[in-house]
Amino acid sequence: MAHGGGPRQVKLDRESELRIEVGYDAPLKLRLLSGTAEIFGTELPPDFWLTFPPRLKFAVFTWNGATIEMEGSTETEYTADETPNISYVNVHAVLEERRHRAKPLPPDDPNSQGPRVIVVGPTDSGKSTLSKMLLSWAAKKEWKPTFVDLDIGQGAITIPGCIAATPIEMPIDPVEGIPLDIPLVYFYGHTTPSHESLKIHFLSGNNVDLYNVLVKELAQVVERQLSGNAESRASGMVINTMGWIEGQGYELLLHAIDTFNANVVLVLGQEKLWSMIRNVLKNKPGVDVVKLQKSGGVVSRNAKFRQKSRSHRIREYFYGLANDLSPHSNIANFSDFSVFRIGGGPQAPRSALPIGAEPAADPTRLAPVNINRDLLHTILAVSFAKEPDQIISSNVAGFVFVTDVDIQRKTITYLAPSVGELPSKYLTAGTVTWLET
Ligand code: ATP
Repeated sequence: MAHGGGPRQVKLDRESELRIEVGYDAPLKLRLLSGTAEIFGTELPPDFWLTFPPRLKFAVFTWNGATIEMEGSTETEYTADETPNISYVNVHAVLEERRHRAKPLPPDDPNSQGPRVIVVGPTDSGKSTLSKMLLSWAAKKEWKPTFVDLDIGQGAITIPGCIAATPIEMPIDPVEGIPLDIPLVYFYGHTTPSHESLKIHFLSGNNVDLYNVLVKELAQVVERQLSGNAESRASGMVINTMGWIEGQGYELLLHAIDTFNANVVLVLGQEKLWSMIRNVLKNKPGVDVVKLQKSGGVVSRNAKFRQKSRSHRIREYFYGLANDLSPHSNIANFSDFSVFRIGGGPQAPRSALPIGAEPAADPTRLAPVNINRDLLHTILAVSFAKEPDQIISSNVAGFVFVTDVDIQRKTITYLAPSVGELPSKYLTAGTVTWLET
């Protein structure tokens, strides 16, 4: 199934796809020779070579038949004629109808709001892929749906550790992904809401409360943006979620459904989750809970691979996908910045509490962080806040990467995407780190 790299052509029958995992060391070139084909909802331009970076996993699907030409090695490459794409495109058709119904209505009519779709399911069930397909098919029809990504582990909009939203105005580029122009980003600071490693910051080893607070902030801002724009409102949104569906993870999903007023819940690849959500929402009129098959092409990614792709996302943020950006190294004095950690910080000592009470951290409490070498190699978010008490509710302007801390000189060296002063002196720290490679 792997291929050494020479030029080759593949003929695809109607409604089949070519599944590819690009080789680990070199990119793959691919072009559409004849017919029509798409990658996760975005049509391929005819006769135009596209270059896919190493390790990328994707499928070229055709509705009516196509011939593809490739050059470069692959880890995996095979055709499949069984895909769930017909059921996915049927969902798209229903969403289209709702958008058309919403568009002519005045903004005070509750039905002027187009479909709010949320995609849920276990890890590696194809949630991000289905989200991309629905967005690209909508954008092809000239809608401007809002993409909301609540996946702090493998998000598609910005660096890991964040939740974010952005309007999608064009089908998503299969190589470049989602343009990073003007996303609305909130920094959670960790790539999982619950993990042993978080115990040093949060007593319980998790901070799901902070996650919920940020989801609420993001939802409020998106709501405001949609209320002022009839076209975006009718286009609706597609919300991608994390693969954590058990216990507290399930509660987080219900919270997101509720907070974003989702009216279409697409459950991928798990009957049990579908039935649980359907039961909970059965008394909520106007919410459809739809079960969809997982594609056999979705590739499972282990912890190491996920860590690697997080690292690539951070690299891409600073250097661009094709090393086409030039980040700037800057030196600042400790006194130029105020660094905070959200939700953590020293808890009240047991001796200061009433007998029997357990110390508990306030999930949204801000704790000042001393600038020292612990910050080395961490990613800090630059807040838009003007005052510290606005940090929680503020989205972030961007990120910096700490490359050196000089205790003697009291200076910090950091990499930023561009030259010039940062938009704010308030930075937040989490546990997102990067080893520049
Ligand atoms: P997560 O667990 O991170 O939430 P997910 O459920 O969102 O994952 P995806 O990211 O959509 O899953 O898919 C996992 C991987 O499988 C991705 O690299 C994606 O590009 C790849 N993939 C999805 N569908 C196909 C397909 N039909 N053929 C080949 N690769 C695919």
